[in-house]
Amino acid sequence: MSTESSGSQADAPCYQDETNCLVNEGDAVNGFRSLVTPVYRASTVVFPTVEAYQNRQQDLLNGYWYGLYGTPTTRALEQRLSAIEGANHTILTPSGMAAIALITLAEVKPGQRVLFPDNVYDAVRFFAANYLQQMGITPQFYDPMAGGQIEDLLTEDVALVWVESPGSISLEVQDVPAIVSAARSRGIPIAADNTWATAMRFKPLHHGVHYSMNSASKYISGHSDVVIGAISVRDKELYTRLRQSARSLGYGVAADVASLVIRGLETLSVRLDQSERSALDLARWLTEHEAIETVLHPAFEGHEGHAVWKRDFLGATGVFSMVLAPWAEPFVARAVESLKLIKIGASWGGTHSVIAVYNGLPNRTVAPWSRKGAILRLSIGLENVDDLKKDLSAALSLLIPRR
Ligand SMILES: *Cc1c(COP(=O)(O)O)cnc(C)c1O
Repeated sequence: MSTESSGSQADAPCYQDETNCLVNEGDAVNGFRSLVTPVYRASTVVFPTVEAYQNRQQDLLNGYWYGLYGTPTTRALEQRLSAIEGANHTILTPSGMAAIALITLAEVKPGQRVLFPDNVYDAVRFFAANYLQQMGITPQFYDPMAGGQIEDLLTEDVALVWVESPGSISLEVQDVPAIVSAARSRGIPIAADNTWATAMRFKPLHHGVHYSMNSASKYISGHSDVVIGAISVRDKELYTRLRQSARSLGYGVAADVASLVIRGLETLSVRLDQSERSALDLARWLTEHEAIETVLHPAFEGHEGHAVWKRDFLGATGVFSMVLAPWAEPFVARAVESLKLIKIGASWGGTHSVIAVYNGLPNRTVAPWSRKGAILRLSIGLENVDDLKKDLSAALSLLIPRR
């Protein structure tokens, strides 16, 4: 049996992204067929013959031999994600953070260096300081706006460059093609945390990135009820290395979780369209408010990396931030706590709107955050936009000191 899954995909009809989120080529079971990928639960996988059992490990990539290494349900989700990413292979991981760790540990060895943008997802900093450093791997942070100037940092010992665009709190858009070109010319692989955009809005692999990684806990699953990650690649060798590393580390995903993600993926396109539209409407409206110093949204002229966003992205999503005027500081907590519809929470990309509050970005090291006011990061869900405006309007009025 061939282990090359890209072969069959090359023969498949070519659809647009919205369709690829839905295509299900599942097999009929005893003549039964539905539109839904079944939940194939398994720890033990059974074999028809002694020979099949003894050779079970030959097909690590696509075969089935232990629930931890894949079931038809996880493979079906991997295939759909590959289709929207323009990838040949996708591997699911127990979380987005697990995906970041897997890529990094598969690529970087002790004595080598890995580059992260200074606006990187915060848990990565913890992984870098408490894990990579102890292994003798040097994490190095760089200015997310470095673009092609990243080449100054690309010494012989750099084994991997991470990009995260836009950053999930400060929203700077990185010049990924410029970074890719600098790294590729030195043979250094690039990994993208594409969680904000998803492949519906930005396609890292089309821009020469080697690993496109998502926390599918966010938009892809989309209902705030599962934790899961995914990594998509074009290259068979990278894929093999990821599968082997995942096996060594004991990473796997339950069919039940994959099934919920398949269900969420079917509405990804309409959810993103709606969240994008409402978020843009709210972001424009918020710029008028006297307590708001600036609204950070990639679609705004003057936003850091706006031109790059227009050039490279297919659109926006529903996550953006605002920086409050420093004088509003004493009233931030009472204003945010007064919100009724919008809940306080960090994990975004669901159907419900959530807000997170940051007192600056003190962990940044090479590109310090200079704005003084509190940062409010919003993830706009699927509520009616006028209801969201009313909720925000009442809360923001509490930021203004009574005269
Ligand atoms: C949430 C998130 C992660 C981590 O994903 P988990 O699934 O929560 O482990 C990584 N990167 C970004 C940008 C995220 O928002």
